[in-house]
Amino acid sequence: MLRDKTVLLGSGGGPLTWVAIDVLRTLQRAGARVGVVLSMETDAFVPALTFQTLAGEEVMAASDVYGAVRGGRFQTLAAVVREVDALVVVPATPALLTKMATACADETLARAFLLHQGPTLVAFPGQATEYRHVLVQRNIQQLRDAGVHIYDVGVPETAAAADVLEWSLAPTDIATALGNCLHQTAALADKVLIITAGPTQEPIDPVRHISNRSSGKTGYVLAAAAQRRGAQVILVSGPTHLDAPTGVQCLHVQTALEMRQAVLDHFDQADAVIKTAAVADFRPLRRAEDKVKKDAAEINIPLERNPDILAELGRQKGQRVLVGFAAETQALLQNAQQKVQSKNLDLIVVNDVSDPSIGFASDHNRVHLLEADGRVEELPTMTKTRMAEHILDRVQRLFEARDQG
Ligand code: C5P
Repeated sequence: MLRDKTVLLGSGGGPLTWVAIDVLRTLQRAGARVGVVLSMETDAFVPALTFQTLAGEEVMAASDVYGAVRGGRFQTLAAVVREVDALVVVPATPALLTKMATACADETLARAFLLHQGPTLVAFPGQATEYRHVLVQRNIQQLRDAGVHIYDVGVPETAAAADVLEWSLAPTDIATALGNCLHQTAALADKVLIITAGPTQEPIDPVRHISNRSSGKTGYVLAAAAQRRGAQVILVSGPTHLDAPTGVQCLHVQTALEMRQAVLDHFDQADAVIKTAAVADFRPLRRAEDKVKKDAAEINIPLERNPDILAELGRQKGQRVLVGFAAETQALLQNAQQKVQSKNLDLIVVNDVSDPSIGFASDHNRVHLLEADGRVEELPTMTKTRMAEHILDRVQRLFEARDQG
């Protein structure tokens, strides 16, 4: 996976800077072309000349925030980064993690991170005491949520390793992890995914509607994650407060009927549909032209059923992979299993919404993944970003099984 790839190696400064040298050599041996960016403290631990000699080209200094003269002409940092397939930061010191997590682009490496569009891997000994500090953990979580790959498996050099001085990192494992990131980035490269998100709103009159509770977060996070894996993503979204991820085609809809139409319009080209949307099951039979007066003590609004979009897709799915979501308050798995069958799904993500600490507007979720063959996996409580990665791993496996069978 690393052969002929261009990797930008960002070297942190500290007692583990020498690991960056080993990673550089390992990546080169695996066939990658490696450029180097030094961070502010790198030079104090390993001189730039060492990197330069091994990389066989000029390395970028921490102060080259906007670019540097290379081969006799000025090259912008954006131009350098454009050629890069993957960025790896090793050792990612707490200072570098902070800069990256807060978009504090005051040195070359932090700005390169913001400019880079492909996968980024940060490597550090996560068990060392300084990394376990709540503030560092918060930054690591921010990076994880932004889709950064984390390699935090340190190797203790002493029995009671605590300080970062007593930890090491395994360069070959870091190179393998980077290869996996690159593999994952391309994993959905030729696939078109329709993802629905948010609630639908069914108008009663010009100012009122009925709707379901849904922030849309799960669908948006899934769309971003699928896009990072190289998929072409069509996000069909009901009303939310969220911004569509960059590079994702977003179709805004309001009602279930509009959502159905938008999905069907693109269904032919889709390889998979992931329906996170909380579609309103009913809509007012008639939409009042004018605002309904509130004089009456009681009003009745006749409702009619909305079409079940997912069930309709299930009837004409062909080779496509169909993923549903189910928010349940009781008999989770039995109800979900029944939905898998009735809607002809490959996978359903079951969410226990009786627990207010997870689900809905929360950034966290605890779900079960239930496949058509009855296999169930219970995922621990995790961020929606991590959950999205789990779901996409499953979708990928379903594609593989489909391609083989
Ligand atoms: O039947 P239930 O609403 O629990 O099913 C949930 C799944 O079905 C979700 O994936 C949801 O997006 C989808 N659904 C749909 N059209 C409806 C109702 C639900 O596509 N009218």
